[in-house]
Amino acid sequence: MNEGYNPDVQSYVRDLFAAEDDILRGIGPAAAAAGLPPISIGPEEGRFLQVVAAAIGARRALEIGTLAGYSGVWIARALGPEGKLITLDNNARHAEVAARTFERAGLAGRVEVRVGGALDLLPALAGEPPFDLVFVDADKESYPAYLDWSLKLTRPGAAILAHNVYLHGDIVVPDGTARVAGMREFNRRLAEDPRLQSTLVPLRDGMALAIVG
Ligand code: SAH
Ligand code: MG
Repeated sequence: MNEGYNPDVQSYVRDLFAAEDDILRGIGPAAAAAGLPPISIGPEEGRFLQVVAAAIGARRALEIGTLAGYSGVWIARALGPEGKLITLDNNARHAEVAARTFERAGLAGRVEVRVGGALDLLPALAGEPPFDLVFVDADKESYPAYLDWSLKLTRPGAAILAHNVYLHGDIVVPDGTARVAGMREFNRRLAEDPRLQSTLVPLRDGMALAIVG
């Protein structure tokens, strides 16, 4: 984590732009107590998601990979009182912890947690209104398939974001594993797809941002 960051610089950015309130601060310890791994986004990434959401006027968001709801709280808060976040996770225990997070955050009315494999749940979303923002943060080998679905499920001008696109450095190390191959294909398609204007933002482990044309 925190690739490329002097820890003092990270604290400086967090203190200025991404201060956590008690709700956000409580999510990590509650998740750890429930046995969930400490793999959520960081505060400065949460703030980045919010600024992108504001830039495009996002009201409807989709998240693939809920964990304990930490990124979900940042996103849901950026969607306004009429906003809606649908977040998908295939681990029922994670979904339960996340549901409690959203309850405590007063966001239960704005967030729907759906339990199941993302590739099994995504087709049903095609019948719903399009999304303004998608945040991809689940199994890395499926990122190309998640990009296909994101393109199907978003409106023109929407933002597609994805976490861990540097794979902690593995993205540039010769390696034949499915997660590296999947992430390379994902990043390459973001760069080359004429429907997208994209870049990788060097926040921590790399955050992809693509705007749908
Ligand atoms: N976005 C969260 C962290 C997500 S961690 C945050 O920053 O707070 C990745 C999550 O993806 C885990 O909870 C894991 O259970 C879920 N996941 C992994 N593979 C999945 C799949 N195929 N379908 C749905 N969820 C999946
Ligand atoms: Mg991640």
